[in-house]
Amino acid sequence: MSESWYQRARRRWALAHRDRAPVDRGGRNLLSSNKIAGPSWDVPIAVTCAPSSTCAASCYALNPSKPITWSGAVNRQHLRLSLAEADPQQTAERIANEVKRRGLPHLTIHGTGDLTQATVHMINALAPLIDVPIWVRSRKPHLAAKLNNHKNIYLHFSLDQTSIKRRDVFLRLNPSVQYFFSYQGQPGERITDTHGCALVFADRYDQRLLGSQIPSKARCPLHDLCTPDRPRGSATGACASCRRCFDGSLVSDQQAIAAVGSPAGEEDRRSTHGKNGGPGTPRSVLAELAVDAGDAHRCG
Ligand code: SF4
Repeated sequence: MSESWYQRARRRWALAHRDRAPVDRGGRNLLSSNKIAGPSWDVPIAVTCAPSSTCAASCYALNPSKPITWSGAVNRQHLRLSLAEADPQQTAERIANEVKRRGLPHLTIHGTGDLTQATVHMINALAPLIDVPIWVRSRKPHLAAKLNNHKNIYLHFSLDQTSIKRRDVFLRLNPSVQYFFSYQGQPGERITDTHGCALVFADRYDQRLLGSQIPSKARCPLHDLCTPDRPRGSATGACASCRRCFDGSLVSDQQAIAAVGSPAGEEDRRSTHGKNGGPGTPRSVLAELAVDAGDAHRCG
């Protein structure tokens, strides 16, 4: 059987990085820059993600043709993670200084990778130090639920067909952080239901895979910017222009969805309720979900 991209990433990690100190080649900037999502804290997927099958099939950070998977980028990801694991508070202060020095308008957490215990502490320490929005993308319910309810933390919890129950786990943990859910389509999946999510992504932003049932405000603008007839680079800076993921718009939309209820939440509402008014989760679901997964967005 051929090696999957995720297996490849883990093998390459073991060969080049495991049990080794990352090389700090200097430079003032710790953050990377994602051409669509903007300034970004990226960490290694091989040791922070446990991908669902949708992630494994579609995550851009597993595609060996993408520079983000190349050794130089992975070494920087290793360095960031090592710093956060060693001293979350000091790393938060370093990021805050960089955000202020460079005048960054927002910060994306996890252009690649996902939360760890240390990075949860780091983000919670960082939030009071800066005034700009912190857009945290995660698929790990237990860690995401530990993020603080701070005015500039916006949790974007990513779901897909193979991990939809993680929403219930997250809500059962009574999160206090501001959050919304997104639904990521699998390769070839036609999406005709938001699945109770405020935001929807078709695979490769292919708008032909979005049914007319999906309301316009649930469609990420990248579906219009990433069409084949658009010139290369049309989506550059898209998130800084849109900002819906970190200006509170989608948090409000998610609260509205929770208020009216969704088909996906009916069964759960019969059991218990989360602190934010969302559905709770039967214990059987909690027991079923032992694995967290990484971010599956394709960004160009
Ligand atoms: S909704 Fe806006 S901010 Fe969110 S991913 Fe799409 S373009 Fe970026």
